[in-house]
Amino acid sequence: MIISSKAIMKNLYCCFFCMFILSYINFSYSQTNQSSANRPNILFIISDDHAYQEIGVYGSKIAKTPNIDRIAKEGAIFRNSFVTNSICGPSRATLLTGKYSHLNGYKANEGKFVDQPTFPKVLQQSNYQTAWIGKMHLGSLPKGFDYFNILPGQGMYYNPDFIENGDTTRIEGYVTNVITKLTTDWLDKRDKTKPFCLVVGEKATHREWLPDIQDLGAFDNVEFPLPSTFFDDYKGRIAAANNDMTIDKTMLLKGDLKIHNDNTTGVYRRLTGNQKKAYEDYYGKISKEFDEKNLSGESLAKWKYQRYMRDYLSTAKSLDRNIGHILDYLDNKGLAKNTVVIYVSDQGFYMGEHGWFDKRWMYEESLRTPFVMRYPGVIKPGTFIDKFAVNIDWAPTILDIAGAKVPQDMQGVSLLPLFNSNGKNTAWRNEVYYHYYEYPRPHRVSPHFGIRTDRYKLICFYGEKKAWELFDLQKDPRELNNLYDKTENAKTIAQLKERLLRQIKKYNDDEALQIFEKSQSLPT
Ligand code: CA
Repeated sequence: MIISSKAIMKNLYCCFFCMFILSYINFSYSQTNQSSANRPNILFIISDDHAYQEIGVYGSKIAKTPNIDRIAKEGAIFRNSFVTNSICGPSRATLLTGKYSHLNGYKANEGKFVDQPTFPKVLQQSNYQTAWIGKMHLGSLPKGFDYFNILPGQGMYYNPDFIENGDTTRIEGYVTNVITKLTTDWLDKRDKTKPFCLVVGEKATHREWLPDIQDLGAFDNVEFPLPSTFFDDYKGRIAAANNDMTIDKTMLLKGDLKIHNDNTTGVYRRLTGNQKKAYEDYYGKISKEFDEKNLSGESLAKWKYQRYMRDYLSTAKSLDRNIGHILDYLDNKGLAKNTVVIYVSDQGFYMGEHGWFDKRWMYEESLRTPFVMRYPGVIKPGTFIDKFAVNIDWAPTILDIAGAKVPQDMQGVSLLPLFNSNGKNTAWRNEVYYHYYEYPRPHRVSPHFGIRTDRYKLICFYGEKKAWELFDLQKDPRELNNLYDKTENAKTIAQLKERLLRQIKKYNDDEALQIFEKSQSLPT
């Protein structure tokens, strides 16, 4: 058989080409494996309505949160962490998209989150395994997650239903314990060839504050000091005066504080067996004491405040213990070193300040949210960050940790540069832009937008109650003294309005732009 030299050369070329392709595939494969092994896992825990004032590392002397404190001590605490729209669903929509509510479309609770680009979809393209377990509350099933097991809507504290990849099942037990079990089960069964990004959505510490049975009465021996603004008269703040969220008038004795709750309706209707007995015993005794006291007026408001604090902090204690279990799991499985742990709440919460519970306002207690983060090898233990972090930054930060490209239309920025010398030399934002919408239900908080700088806060209320408010946070940290009408502040107000307008334009908030322009002709 005669083979021409031309044919030999052709075969050789083919061989070389095949070898090149094979070696390229092999190279790419080993590169992917290598980078997968090195890329950190991300565990993002988002609780609900957990007030920073009630967390140890944020200064609480009473709350028991050793595990949240541990994340901060082994990593960083953000001491100026804010949200863009202080309610549950909108905060989670912002987490997913890295965008303000007016761009992701989820402005108020009980809406339906429309499918759109989100951070988990980018992570999936980067070969991350993605999952969401627990509360999501976005009115549609999660997209971009390889696995999900979520509470329908708000979910129940006891024996809750869960939707696992589309199928609903009732799971016996206390919700926070169940979420921890589902979390560790998923971590056990996950695809271990890929790094993971897991969001744990906690129901606690949402209204109506039901603790695990072992924590019932955990704070009964504590007399909580009444906040100095508890009997606020809302002078000079007409939107605040119009509120429907006081502990005194709005908080329900039966529904919220479980006084004479009949167990067939209301917050703990799903209790069974020992759960039911423990709740009946505990709140039965309190209901009896309540009847004997025969309270009214200020003394009733003060009594409700004590009961609120006790139930809330007991629920937070159950939450913190479960966070400890998840941290222990990471330790025991050798995952702690290569897993970034972030703990946030979806927003802040009022613990009696201004007489309130709930959130929504651009005032400090609800504008701020706790945010602690542990990243071994990158964040020095005991780091504190004072630069302004906003919840639009959460998605870009997660993507940056994963080494994935942050989409250009995300409005936040990665927080990782702040860990170089605590961010001292990093150029950063000097103001936070805020916009709240939901009105009038459930708490009659007028829609508003505004900016917070290191010293001032300027707010435009534009609903039924139209007003501007200006606070000097240095002189008046409790925001009681609205300075907007004081003529000596005209220059400060003009400068702040310019800064506000720049923020409105920067974040493409067309609705706010129209209102802002119109408001210049409003009586002040
Ligand atoms: Ca919330």
